[in-house]
Amino acid sequence: MAFDYDLIVIGGGSGGLACAQRASEHGARTLLIEQHRLGGTCVNLGCVPKKIMWNAALISHALHDAAGYGFDVALGRHDWELLKRRRDDYIGQLNASYERSLANRKVELRRGHARLHSPQLVEVGGQRLSAGAVVLANGGQPLIPRLPGASFGMTSDDFFALSERPRGVAIVGAGHIAAELGSIFAALGSHTTIVMRHERILRHLDAMLGETLMQSMRADGIELVVDAVPQSLERDSAGLLELRVEDGRVLGPFDALVWAIGRAPSTHELGLDQAGVALDRHGYVHVDAYQRTNLENLYAIGDVTQHAGFTPVAIAAGRRLAERLFGGQSERKLDYDHIPQVVFSHPPIGTVGLSEQQARAAHGDAVTTFKSGFLPMYHALTERRPRAQMKLVTVAPAQKIVGIHAIGPGADELLQGFAVALRMGATKRDLDDTIAIHPTSAEELVTMR
Ligand code: FAD
Ligand code: NDP
Repeated sequence: MAFDYDLIVIGGGSGGLACAQRASEHGARTLLIEQHRLGGTCVNLGCVPKKIMWNAALISHALHDAAGYGFDVALGRHDWELLKRRRDDYIGQLNASYERSLANRKVELRRGHARLHSPQLVEVGGQRLSAGAVVLANGGQPLIPRLPGASFGMTSDDFFALSERPRGVAIVGAGHIAAELGSIFAALGSHTTIVMRHERILRHLDAMLGETLMQSMRADGIELVVDAVPQSLERDSAGLLELRVEDGRVLGPFDALVWAIGRAPSTHELGLDQAGVALDRHGYVHVDAYQRTNLENLYAIGDVTQHAGFTPVAIAAGRRLAERLFGGQSERKLDYDHIPQVVFSHPPIGTVGLSEQQARAAHGDAVTTFKSGFLPMYHALTERRPRAQMKLVTVAPAQKIVGIHAIGPGADELLQGFAVALRMGATKRDLDDTIAIHPTSAEELVTMR
């Protein structure tokens, strides 16, 4: 049977763009369908605008720290609207560069909402198009809880539309987005409250990381409300918000509230039911190790699948799939183990491998940890005194490193190289034998005893 294309990719975000371009480089006749802006969540509503806001927060901290280094800095007003405009301009340039790059690689781009008709037939703009292979790269969207008044709150998408700083803001959640947006709002001058259901932020990571971040956040004036399960959100006549929690407490008033309670895969209005695509119990498109769905010639990558929701994961899955389908690399697939991640909080967190808690559950007494807690030299002269913490998790007999966890200035940048070491099977001895780079924070990881 003759197909219109060798490959149709639905979704022009991190995974879809990477997959389509790599396939086309291997000679596949490729169509990419995108309903909004190219670049998807990461470029438009995630990593990129978030990192710009993180940078702004970093500068704010540096301006306050400057006095300790002898600078007489007169702090003026921060112009949030100007920052947003400049950020949006930058993202507009990225959107345009993706469009050019698709054209250069001969990937055809169609704008519109795609629906799956059958595994190899896609409908867009009233037209049905066939392909030898179809890839779902639809990504996800923020969750809003089903609670009375929940729609008075905003999501991370709305955060990027804010044109001014809210005076008082609450963030509900305890994951990546709560940690990151909380740090940004506070550094840029909002009175910030983070509301968590349990006792610790970032519970899914090594406990040391969340505990240390909470200490730093409190020192930065962030209010942390724990053991608070949201019940309803109310808005008064002045537009201020109050959050009622299950134990009867009423939190607020706040000018704004952000729900940061996770994301859901974008599987609605896609025709998956009709096509017979199997979803897992959380609604993600279920894929095997080769990104195959339950239907032949239909694949899925990135946030629409059950795997870790990070941009480099979506990109790597997309590229490997294209190499397998069109590049003659029949066994190429993504190894989902040892995915390093950074939480862009202030201070930032870098983490890879097993937490101490996970390692002990898996390896019991064979686990040995090495820790270092210190005041980074930068802070020796500043009024703020956030301590950095680092931990190596190792397993006997060779003291193989199975986890590396760091929080402190530079933790975001130092992790990448250490993640390579962990992936290659480094032992504690390998780190001991590596000469330190002094004076840095990273040297702590090769000098622990
Ligand atoms: P997306 O990037 O979401 O792309 C999906 C695309 O499909 C979208 O453009 C959408 O419009 C399109 N689409 C959906 N349905 C259809 C349809 N039916 N027809 C046509 N088009 C359709 N990850 C990191 O690694 N580092 C970070 O620092 C980081 N920060 C983040 C911060 C925030 C606030 C958020 C929300 C996420 C962040 N992430 C980060 C996660 C990262 O953005 C995602 O993991 C990544 O974007 C997933 O890529 P994807 O290709 O699977 O989906
Ligand atoms: P996460 O899944 O990271 O965290 C959400 C947390 O909110 C949960 O872990 C849970 O914590 C809490 N929560 C869940 N439901 C409720 C509820 N009903 N009421 C109150 N609290 C609740 O989601 P995020 O929204 O923070 O981020 C989404 C995803 O985006 C991340 O998982 C990550 O894949 C990606 N991302 C990556 C970033 C990066 O790489 N730096 C940055 C931002 C996002 P608990 O169980 O402890 O209550």
